[in-house]
This record gives sequence, C-alpha cells and structure tokens, in this order.
Amino acid sequence: MNDQYKFSLDESRLPKAWYNIAADMPVPPTPVLHPGTKEPVTPDFLGVLFPMSLIMQEISQERYIEIPEPVREVYKLWRPTPLIRARRLELALDTPAHIYYKNEGVSPVGSHKPNTAVAQAFYNKEAGTKAMTTETGAGQWGSALSMACNFFGIDLEVYMVKVSYHQKPYRRIVMQNYGAQVFASPTDRTQYGRSVLEKDPESPGSLGIAISEAVEVAATSGGTKKYSLGSVLNHVLTHQSVIGLEALEQMEMAGEYPDIIIGCAGGGSNFAGFAFPFLRENFTNGKNTRVIAVEPTACPTLTRGKYTFDYGDTAAMAPIVKMHTLGHTFVPPGIHAGGLRYHGMAPSVSALVDHGDIEARAVHQLETFEAAVQFSQSEGIMPAPESAHAVRAAIDEALKCKETGQKKVIAFNLSGHGHFDMTAYEAYLKGGLQDYDYPQRAIEEAMTHLPQIG
Ligand SMILES: *Cc1c(COP(=O)(O)O)cnc(C)c1O
Repeated sequence: MNDQYKFSLDESRLPKAWYNIAADMPVPPTPVLHPGTKEPVTPDFLGVLFPMSLIMQEISQERYIEIPEPVREVYKLWRPTPLIRARRLELALDTPAHIYYKNEGVSPVGSHKPNTAVAQAFYNKEAGTKAMTTETGAGQWGSALSMACNFFGIDLEVYMVKVSYHQKPYRRIVMQNYGAQVFASPTDRTQYGRSVLEKDPESPGSLGIAISEAVEVAATSGGTKKYSLGSVLNHVLTHQSVIGLEALEQMEMAGEYPDIIIGCAGGGSNFAGFAFPFLRENFTNGKNTRVIAVEPTACPTLTRGKYTFDYGDTAAMAPIVKMHTLGHTFVPPGIHAGGLRYHGMAPSVSALVDHGDIEARAVHQLETFEAAVQFSQSEGIMPAPESAHAVRAAIDEALKCKETGQKKVIAFNLSGHGHFDMTAYEAYLKGGLQDYDYPQRAIEEAMTHLPQIG
C-alpha cells in the first residue's frame, strides 16, 4: 500500500492524444438539427461559427485525436495536474474508503476550462481566425478563453451575463487583463440583445441570452469572427479527456483503481473529461466502475429534465440536439454554482445516462457548501461552488462506506478553486443561503416550448 499524498506525473507523461468516447459509445449518436429547417445540420452551417478542424472533431469517430504540440506546450504551464489522496478528509470522516481528487484548480485561471480554451484558440489561429466571440456566466469560461486567445494573438469579445458583470467584477477584470473586450449582456450590440432590452430594460441577462448574442455576432460577421463554446459540444468534452487520461496513470501510481468516479455536471465537460477515460475501461477492458454525475437540485437537468430534442440557446438560433433538458426557456434560479445553471447537457453524457452507463444525482445548495467547508478544513483547498457538488457526493459515498465497512476507492474531479466565490462562502457562513427545489410546474411549462421534431 502506497502512503503518498500526491501522485504527480512528470511533464513528459502529459498525454499525446485526447480520448474521443464516440468510438466506444454503446448507443449511436443522434443527429444535430438546424434550428430553422429542423433537418440535420451540414458542416457549412457550423462552418460559419467554427473552424473546420473543430467541426471534424465534433463528428469524429476516431478513438484518439493527437494533441498538437503548441497546445501541449501551453498545457505544460500547469499540466499534468496532481491527483491527491484526501487522507485528512478520510480521517475526519472516519471512513475506510480511500478518497482521491484530481485538482484542476491549479490552472492559471483556476479551473479545468483552459484545457479546451487553449485547444480551440489554437485551431482557430491555425485556420486564420483573427477574432472570436463567446459568452460567460460568472466568468470562468470567459477568463479561460481570454487567456488562450491572448496566447495565440486572437481578439476576443465576451458577452457576460449582466448581473454577474456588475456583482462579480473580479473575473471581468481577469478577462480585461488578458486583453478581451467584455460586454454586459443583454447589450444593444445585437438584434437579439435589443429585443430583450425592449421587453425588459432591466433584464439581468442569462447564459442562454448571452449565448444567443455571441452566436449572432459571429454568424453576422461575414466570416471575420468565429464563436466558441466552453462546454456541451463533443469536441469540448474530447479536449477535457486529458484530465481522466492523466488520472488513470496516477491511479496506477497509487496502486489502486476507483470503484466510484464522481464529477459535477453543468454542461458536462469537466465530468466527461474526468469520467470518460474510466468509462472506456468499463466498455473495453472489463472494468466495472460506478460513474456519478452530480448537479444542483435548483437546476436538475439530468435527474428531472426530459431526454429529448431542444435548442442549445434561449433565442432558438443554436442547433437542436437530443439531450436532457429543462427547456430552452428555463430561467435559472439564483444559486451560487453559476457554472451549473445551463438548461441542457452534453448529448453524449445524456445518452450515457439514458442508457444506464452513468448515474445522475442532485444535491442541495446548503449540504453542498457544508461539504465544501468540511473539505477545506481537512484538505486546505476552498473548492468552487460547482466543484463542491462533487465533494458532497464523494463525502456521501465515503460515509456509506463507514456504515457498511466497505473499503471502496472513490475518485472525484475538483474542477476548480473558489477564490473568486467568497461572496457565496460569506453568504453560507452567515447563514444567508437557502435550498431550492426547481418547481415541477416550471418544468412542465417549459416542455410546451420544445421544438416539434417529426
Ligand atoms: C464551468 C465550470 C463547471 C461547469 O461546467 P462543465 O462543463 O459541466 O464542467 C464546473 N466547475 C467549474 C469550476 C467551472 O468553472
């Protein structure tokens, strides 16, 4: 038995290829549909928004996609990230379980998001893109793409949800530091933004609205601007697989193999990036690891949403995909895990949940912060409120082991640190946070607005 705390891979062991789960999916992919015609989209339609190399990755069935050398060079600024055995947490819980976590919070912007931001900026640079657009909620994705575009010399416009723009200024400043232009969405820069402001001049904005604005700017730029999405799409999940590929090697160094793999799921990218390489072992190598995706009860996409075709954005301008959805008209409640408030889910994650390969679980806000505080008091790191959902589920599984005496090996992804989330921690510590169950009525109402697919 290994008595180490940290399992660190040498730079030379940084993966040379990403893993694409499409090659091993037990269910066939569903087509991506055009929002207008509702027919399968052509590469031309997507080509307005994305460079062809990323579109080819989006539909690729190849198991491995080589990581370009310039991307690996940037990854080396913080990768491979450490896998840590949470020994002090195990002691605090008095559990026979072994708990490991992969720390993606060590990236320069503090989350897993640069894993795909750097790759997307690279492929855009290679395709001659001079400027890009994107949206951001609380600013995690915006800061990752701002850093990446800065590295590759691409201009960036970020449409940031207005309420966060004003209430969470620090990540906006991070983006501006890297040279990005940041706008409070809804803006008067787009037709869609203006239509929202006409109806409600005080609109606080939403991720769905910001996506619609960023897409519109790229789509109407005459080819001068490309759009980038930080989660949900297949190529994004593939780029994130670097997390799980490293973790597989690190578990081997630790001399153990996980019985349970856990990640928090907003659009599904950090969860998939960590879990899919382990699912590969389930599908192709006789392993039988339980894989759990954790979401907030306030945005219960996988646990209470419907598995059906829906638009990717609020304005119904983005492609229609088959996924678990709360409806594209979903208005997210103001919980503090801003990264987990998207109405949909990555189609591959949805398909695997539907097929029974992945379990989904929803946890409440208060128990999530309780877990975050317990984790930080044992391990030192204050997790992002999103990541704290994975911490909650890992602690719950470890406590079950305490009851049954089982010595399970539990591994979770710590998708980011919470250093920009002190107002959320403050609210929790002052007793000012509440639990929230998304009303069934609202789900049923939103289902009446789904696109009709023949
Ligand atoms: C954005 C974000 C998430 C949620 O996005 P996924 O695509 O589901 O990973 C989770 N954790 C952190 C720290 C984030 O920044």
